[in-house]
Amino acid sequence: MQRSRPNILVTGTPGTGKSTLCQLLCEQSGLHHVELARLIREEHLYTEWDDEMNCSIFDEDLVVSKLSDFLPEGGHVMDFHSCDFLPVDWFDLVVVLRTETSVLYGRLERRSYPERKIQENVECEIFQVLLDEAKEHFGADAVMEAWNDSLQHLDANVQRVMEWLNQWQGQVEA
Ligand code: ADP
Ligand code: MN
Repeated sequence: MQRSRPNILVTGTPGTGKSTLCQLLCEQSGLHHVELARLIREEHLYTEWDDEMNCSIFDEDLVVSKLSDFLPEGGHVMDFHSCDFLPVDWFDLVVVLRTETSVLYGRLERRSYPERKIQENVECEIFQVLLDEAKEHFGADAVMEAWNDSLQHLDANVQRVMEWLNQWQGQVEA
């Protein structure tokens, strides 16, 4: 499908700053933010609720079906902590946010995550699970790895994606 505006996926371990980056990008670009975890909650796109971990076990088919109503037309910045169930041709860029271990630990602690959930997420980040998942699923060329430890990083990441966006738009209009 030919899109006049691109779709960007922002993925990464919980706490790496996906939603924050997406909000800033949407303010600057006019693209529309899809916070998928929230959509799953609001639209009940899950089959089970994991009380202990306080998270849903989402239904991939339900999620893809819901997104197919509006996402393929373009103009969206979507954030989610997993990506291997998403159709590859829906996204023009995949940003994988990375955060240094101690910084991520602090952010998750401030979120009052249970210790086990903090450990799990920190390990997931150390072993760059989401980066590998994104590269394997979308291909390394589609993936932009971006460290996001500080506000300086955040500014640089916004700028980097905005530059990508301008280039993409230029190619479409050419
Ligand atoms: P995610 O959506 O990936 O779970 P959030 O965007 O909710 O992450 O960010 C997690 C926490 O880290 C929030 O408190 C946010 O304000 C903070 N944060 C996000 N990005 C940065 C950054 N680059 N530098 C410092 N703090 C950040
Ligand atoms: Mn988030």
